[in-house]
Amino acid sequence: MDFTSGMFKPVIDKCEGCDRIVEAEAAKYCRTYANPAAKWKIGLCNFATHAKPEIAATKIRVNPLKAAKRASKAKK
Ligand code: SF4
Repeated sequence: MDFTSGMFKPVIDKCEGCDRIVEAEAAKYCRTYANPAAKWKIGLCNFATHAKPEIAATKIRVNPLKAAKRASKAKK
């Protein structure tokens, strides 16, 4: 890929530490996205190897009915 052709924009601060960064002519580019800044505008970059959205892993489904029962029992 020709990163210096002008089609690719350099990575932004948030990309620092990502394994997908490649260096070409003293600038850093992303191997996956031509415009890393746009990727981060909507939140975390989903291809970032150094930053993972933690909520996705820790979200636990709670049954609202059972939770209500448990809560009312606890009050007694
Ligand atoms: S994959 Fe995402 S975080 Fe990594 S360099 Fe590319 S745009 Fe940046």
